Amino acid sequence: MTNDQNHLRKRACTIDTLEEFFAHAYALELEAAERYEELAHSMEVHNNLEVAEVFHKLADSGQKHAKQVLQRAGGRELPEIAPWDFKWDRSEAPETAAADGVHYLMTPYHALDLARASEVHARDFYATVAECTDDPKVRELAGEFAEEEAGHVDLVNAWIAKYPEPQEGWDEDPDPPHLPE
Ligand code: ZN
Repeated sequence: MTNDQNHLRKRACTIDTLEEFFAHAYALELEAAERYEELAHSMEVHNNLEVAEVFHKLADSGQKHAKQVLQRAGGRELPEIAPWDFKWDRSEAPETAAADGVHYLMTPYHALDLARASEVHARDFYATVAECTDDPKVRELAGEFAEEEAGHVDLVNAWIAKYPEPQEGWDEDPDPPHLPE
């Protein structure tokens, strides 16, 4: 692990109140859902409706999970955290799909592969918090959330198995779009 990663990892370790933990969990799901909505929209623009539908479904489940986090928080007042003050190990929340991982000709398989990476990253984030927080309640909850994310990884794996692996040349377009820059 590089020094930089170590430093970032240490930030996740300073999540030591339930309020702060729930605020991170809520933002993680909401940001993931928002990114999936954006990706769905960009697929619609390119008339890739099959993949748009996959992204819509992923966005819906992110919204659902965000609501579940609030329920778990049970009326606690969550701190407002500025975007740059979240204790992620990168600039975006761990479950947020990489925006540069998309291609207008991508298949559902690609979309789900992207989602799988996001779920793995979310799982690892919670596992890190569980490992290193000082607060026993946060530790327990982060452990539970890590397990839930591992369940999401399984779900995406089951879903991805329904689609064929993309053939070589999937990104070749005989009639490329001419979009304004
Ligand atoms: Zn998840």
